[in-house]
This record gives sequence, C-alpha cells and structure tokens, in this order.
Amino acid sequence: MSVDQRIEQLRSTLSLEVGRLTSYDDVEALRVRFLGKKGLLAELMVFLKESGPEQRPLMGEKINSFKQEVTGHLDRLSSSWKAKERSSLLEKEAVDPTLPGRQSYLGRAHPIQSMLQTVLDILISMGFSIQLGPDVDTDYYNFEGLNFSPDHPARDMQDTFYLNQGFLLRTHTSNTQVHVLKSHAPPVRVVAPGRCFRNEDISSRSHVFFHQVEGFYVDHKVSFADLLGTMDYFLKRLLGSETKTRFRPSYFPFVEPGLEVDVMCRACHEKGCRLCKQTGWLEILGAGMIHPSVLLAAKIDPEAYTGYAWGLGIERLTLLEHGIPDIRMLTENDLRFLSQFP
Ligand SMILES: [Zn+2]
Repeated sequence: MSVDQRIEQLRSTLSLEVGRLTSYDDVEALRVRFLGKKGLLAELMVFLKESGPEQRPLMGEKINSFKQEVTGHLDRLSSSWKAKERSSLLEKEAVDPTLPGRQSYLGRAHPIQSMLQTVLDILISMGFSIQLGPDVDTDYYNFEGLNFSPDHPARDMQDTFYLNQGFLLRTHTSNTQVHVLKSHAPPVRVVAPGRCFRNEDISSRSHVFFHQVEGFYVDHKVSFADLLGTMDYFLKRLLGSETKTRFRPSYFPFVEPGLEVDVMCRACHEKGCRLCKQTGWLEILGAGMIHPSVLLAAKIDPEAYTGYAWGLGIERLTLLEHGIPDIRMLTENDLRFLSQFP
C-alpha cells in the first residue's frame, strides 16, 4: 500500500468516527487515537523509514500536511463541542423568573391553643387568675380529695392511667382545685387550664388526652345563682350574645348539686341537625356547687364558705367552633389541616 492510499484510508476512518461523536470527551479520545504518540498518524512514519532518500522529502511533506489537516479538523470539533456542552449546562441551571417563588410558612397557634387562649382571656377579664396543677399526681388529689372514696363507683367513669408508686395521670384538671384549696385561704377565684388523660378507646369523638379548663370560686355566700349567672355570661362572651344556655341536673361526686350546661346549636338554631343529634342543643360543660366534703378535706368550713366549680372541654369547643368532624385531626399534625386556621 502506498502512503497516499493509507492517508486516504485514514481520512475516511476519521470522517466515519466524526459522525459518531456524542461529546467533547469523544473528540479528545479521537485526538489521542489519531495524533497520540502511538496513534495512527505515528504509524505513517514506517513509510518514511522504508523510502529512498529521493522520495523522502515529498513523503514527509504529505504526512505533515495530513497531520495539519487532522489537527485543524479536531480543533474545530473540540471547540464546537465545548461550546455546545456549556450552553446546555447553562440551560439546566437557568433561572426562570416567571416561576412562582418558594413559599415559606409562618408559624401559627394550634387551634386548641387559640381556643384555650380565647377562653382564658375572657375568664381573666372576669376576675379569675390562672393556676397550674401537675399532669402527674397522686390518687388523693385526683380522686380522694374530690370526694371519690377508694371504692366509689364514679371512678369507673374515668378510666385512669396508673403509674408506679401510687402516681397516676390526672383524669381532669380538678386536681388543681384540691391543691389550691389546701394551700390558699378563701376567697379564691381561679381557672386551671391543662392536659388530662383517660385510658379510653380513640375514636372520632374521644381521645386518650385532651384539654380542660377548670374554674372555681370559693367565698362567703357564693350562691347557685352566681354559678348560673357566671356560666351564662361566660358562654355569651365566648359564643356570642345571642347564645342561649340550658342547665340540666347531673351528677359528679365533687359537686352538689351538679349540672350540665348546654348551649343552643349554632348550626340549626334549635331546629335540630346532625351536629346536635336533632336535639337543638350541645352539651358544653359540667358544673356545680363544690361538695361540702371537698371543702372539709381542704380544711375550709362549709358552714362559713361556699363555692362553685366547672370543667370545660377545649377539644369539644374547638370541634364545634370550626365544624371539625374528627377529634383525631387535632393531634395528627397534618400541615394541610393546620394551615387552614388563621
Ligand atoms: Zn343543630
């Protein structure tokens, strides 16, 4: 084969390979294959070695000019691939100013906390002061001091989480009442907000923990009429001045008499609907005159002092206020749910 034929062969190999290029790196690999130390063009030197001295200058010139041709060709390919890759990288990293910005979220109060705060604000403005009691307490403060004797059947109404060494998780915020009455001489006018725990099945209507606001007032001559007036005023402040209230007799060991307070269903205005189970009324809190045994246990003379107390469930109020169908939604911490509350 002559040097001309070999050069022609290499030229067509090169053009075939150029058609298969897919990246800048491919161009550089091709450069090594053709122009590297042991590349295809280096092999052309064999022709030079084997030629006679009169042919040698012409042959050298041919090989050289082919080498320049290949180098120039690869240089052009190299720079065009480099430019192509850079522009596609820019495209990938490009900023599209028409896209909407990433949203950042402001923290906000949980619906339970906002309801709790609303309730406390009203009660504080009515002259009550806040006292906190412990979540973990003894049987005495949760039951016995509230007129639940050890075998009292009403204990079964409150399934209790018992802990070690005689401790339990309080089943109501009424334990605070015992703490305060034992340590403060009347008059006392206190609200005690907090978490309560009951060992119940979790359903759409009940949970193992919930929030209550306990309130109580002990002084000379505190009357049943004071209790009714206070509850009526408080519920009108909370739910609107047109709110009607209804009082029904009920039983709790730590009050006598005991009552349950209903408010007119705001969804149907007494006509009856699914929310109020067709009754037109919603049960909202339990209350009563503090039982003389509770006062005696706290060393307060029930002949000289009387008092009233009530307990209000915050979860139930929150569900009613926002029309939330399931109490479990309040504890799932789903942002899609929580972000609906301003
Ligand atoms: Zn209704």
